[in-house]
Amino acid sequence: MGHAVAKHENILTPSQALERLLSGNARYLAGVDSPDSFQYQPDTLAESQNPYACILGCADSRVSPEHCFDEGQGDLFVTRIAGNFVTQEILGSLEYGTAVLGASLIMVLGHTGCGAIGAAIKAVDSDEDFPGHIQGIATALSPAVTQATSEGSTDSRAVSATRINVALNVDKLRNATPVLRKLVREERLRIVGGLYHVATGAVEIIVD
Ligand SMILES: [Zn+2]
Repeated sequence: MGHAVAKHENILTPSQALERLLSGNARYLAGVDSPDSFQYQPDTLAESQNPYACILGCADSRVSPEHCFDEGQGDLFVTRIAGNFVTQEILGSLEYGTAVLGASLIMVLGHTGCGAIGAAIKAVDSDEDFPGHIQGIATALSPAVTQATSEGSTDSRAVSATRINVALNVDKLRNATPVLRKLVREERLRIVGGLYHVATGAVEIIVD
């Protein structure tokens, strides 16, 4: 990469990166997290960054990756979009976070009670279009809703569609581009799926 490493503790294998995320979530759940840990760090981070993990999360106000994984400045490379799905620009951002900045893990992070998934269900059921650009999000999520409807699992359809949407987007990233595929093949990158439970704050690994 050719530039100074900002945080040596962020040089992790994919498995160590996943372990670190989950132990941060455990601290968050136990109420022993450090909510002020995002304090700026001029000595280590003014010149560069080397986050250890990338998150593709929802825009939802209740799901902040830096908080639910109890991480500080320079640790997570976070892309957020309502419905946590892959677009060309999200893909480019995640390629940058991994291939250029060196993160060894990507987590697609869905959550319970997702309004975007709710909108997608409504759009599929009613054949109605949402105003402005909201319909574009509903359309992007409709394959997950359609699959959830046809599978009819024991989960509610919303939870089922949320889980499927995470799985579809993990799959998309794993197969998306030569850049990500190569890193995965060389075992320098792992792409997993998580589900954040808004009622408890717990992150459940649902695609590994
Ligand atoms: Zn959401």
